[in-house]
Amino acid sequence: MNRRYRKTIIAGNWKMNKTPSEAKALIEEMKGMLSKTKWCEVVLCVPFTDIQTAVKAAKGSKIAIGAENMHFEKSGAFTGEVSADMLKELGVKYVIIGHSERRQYFNETDETCNKKVKVAIENGLRPILCVGESLTEREQDVTMEVIRKQVKIALQGVTVDEAKKVVIAYEPIWAIGTGKTATSEQAGEVCAKIRDCLREMYGARAARAITIQYGGSMNAKNAAELLAQPDVDGGLIGGASLKAPDFAAIVDAANQN
Ligand code: PEP
Repeated sequence: MNRRYRKTIIAGNWKMNKTPSEAKALIEEMKGMLSKTKWCEVVLCVPFTDIQTAVKAAKGSKIAIGAENMHFEKSGAFTGEVSADMLKELGVKYVIIGHSERRQYFNETDETCNKKVKVAIENGLRPILCVGESLTEREQDVTMEVIRKQVKIALQGVTVDEAKKVVIAYEPIWAIGTGKTATSEQAGEVCAKIRDCLREMYGARAARAITIQYGGSMNAKNAAELLAQPDVDGGLIGGASLKAPDFAAIVDAANQN
């Protein structure tokens, strides 16, 4: 983390978990546990069906609500999809774009991520853009080639001022939901190289202001070590964001002096 230049952001990704009543109960429980939040933003990205309840439950707390996806079109014949307008009206502040599960199961591409990132920003939503390599790509030593391509295409046409609103989540696919965390050195190295890429694209000032999270089996035990890396500015957390004590412990780790 480097709090001097950029915000630390701890974001949960609930994936396809929790009904609205379960969401309300979990947020109430979390609110009672989030004692230290001075140094970071706390976000919960929840299923579409939970958004309204979650926004209401989080009111008056430091928790901002995010969505897990959105469509890039404003409206129209896109059965089952949800637009940025719709999310904004519900009080959503963040939206995850290009999570590896969406890339893998729902044919998201760098090009659709690019459209979504731009539309999210136009509508005042902060995109959490997910990038990351597969195990095969890591073994073939092409991690940075893969990630640079993902970052560069997803940010095509995004201006310097707009780029400062983007959060990048480095999520090695092999670490998501597997219990296999990247070492803090691996996470720190890739996040630093992502910042190098942002520096080439936007210059040093903008690059140092952009929050880059790590995601992939981050938990109460390993969070402090991962967050101690200078270029790891927070976490995108799946499994551990479904348990209030675990999520609160990660937020605490981000608030250590
Ligand atoms: C995620 O869903 O983005 C994620 C990182 O999941 P987990 O923490 O469960 O690996």
